Amino acid sequence: MIIIVIKINTMNFLFNRKMENNDELIVCKNCKKQLEIVKEHEHLNSQDLFILNNPRRVLNVNFPVRMDDGKVKLISGFRVQYNDALGPTKGGIRFHESVDLEEVSELAFLMSLKTSLVGLPYGGAKGGIKINPKKLSEGELERVARAYVKEMFKFIGPNQDIPAPDVNTNPQIMAWMMDEYERISGNKNPGVFTGKPLEIGGSLGRDKSTARGGFFIIKEKYKDIDKSKLKVAIQGFGNAGFNIAKMLTNIGFKIVAVSDSQTGIYDEKGLDIDDLIKFKSEKKSFNNYNAIKISNKNLLELDVEILIPAALGGVIDSDNASKIKAKTILELANAPISTSADLILNKKDIEIIPDILANSGGVIVSYFEWVQNLQNYYWETTEVEEKLKFIIIKAFEDVLKESKKHNLSLRTASYTLAINRILKAEKLRGNL
Ligand code: NAD
Repeated sequence: MIIIVIKINTMNFLFNRKMENNDELIVCKNCKKQLEIVKEHEHLNSQDLFILNNPRRVLNVNFPVRMDDGKVKLISGFRVQYNDALGPTKGGIRFHESVDLEEVSELAFLMSLKTSLVGLPYGGAKGGIKINPKKLSEGELERVARAYVKEMFKFIGPNQDIPAPDVNTNPQIMAWMMDEYERISGNKNPGVFTGKPLEIGGSLGRDKSTARGGFFIIKEKYKDIDKSKLKVAIQGFGNAGFNIAKMLTNIGFKIVAVSDSQTGIYDEKGLDIDDLIKFKSEKKSFNNYNAIKISNKNLLELDVEILIPAALGGVIDSDNASKIKAKTILELANAPISTSADLILNKKDIEIIPDILANSGGVIVSYFEWVQNLQNYYWETTEVEEKLKFIIIKAFEDVLKESKKHNLSLRTASYTLAINRILKAEKLRGNL
């Protein structure tokens, strides 16, 4: 087994990364751009920047797993613990054949900002295993998950680094991983992973938490406004997309468009979200749904009050930014807007509620799961939701205040608050 613990200047190669369409790779370009903006008005010095530009710990493991055909496959895995000044690191593990250190480092950096911004006692991390899970049997997936934990055992733990699900990982995979950790340690230790099934230490309310967090922000922002005239378009009808569609409809917003990877549908009078959820779960796509069809591209350009990208990163770039007509964008997806698009949208006075705030409901309820595991006492859904609301609305108000005080976009205000908290913790620890 090979474990390499290395320190790399992630940002140097992060910032040079390009996307296929030659637009910038949104996450890291935005990171750099935002760091530059924050650097100017917060007077960050070279040591501050060194801490922010470099991950604290980078782990690269390469391990064998026996496949169903009897052959051994060598698999690469990663874990980046980007910053741990505020507490144990926290972040998901994704299974994807294109995953690499670069991507994992970017996401770990964003996790550090996200946990800091919403005031959780966590640093930020991310992990990945370079496999295509769709090509593996259930038994192979379990062996991969367990083998990764064996490699990472010394570096993770409830007071050290707490992984969670991400792209292509789910509560069952967290259950296998937790079980492997407990077998090696010889102790029950559910707080080492979050996003677990309810029966073995998961939290009520975790499944809808990302949508619920975004929903609380929108509800707060439009609290004194008649919602029946407010049109909303949502790209992506998965966990984040359909849950927020349902929550917004329930309080009177008019959802005029939704989409999945194949089809978008549109009704200017407002779609019946319950009917759509039923249709999609039965037929798996919107293809034969009786409504006007629109492309995912056209959905983004609709004249609506709120646009919610809830599918992929990079969907709004310099090609389509000038055509966006929404007044507010809630980034439920991670990094849906490229750097150049961000500038164009800012000039058009479109308000963007950035991903590190908008989709932080997921990590907030993961934090609650960890707290419940540590105290061995479990909360009702209403308690989880009330506590989520308190944390996310406070963070939203802090961001609004910072934005007004210094005339910053909500994204820059969010980065400023998150970075200042990290640097303050580093200073108090004597690291700066
Ligand atoms: P999901 O897999 O449940 O749903 C994704 C949806 O996007 C599906 O409806 C899929 O059909 C659609 N989609 C896929 N490709 C598309 C394309 N090319 N165009 C339009 N739609 C497409 O995923 P999710 O959990 O809802 O996550 C959605 C986004 O939210 C992701 O960017 C994810 O990183 C982000 N996010 C999710 C969570 C969470 O807890 N679920 C937390 C933080 C961030």
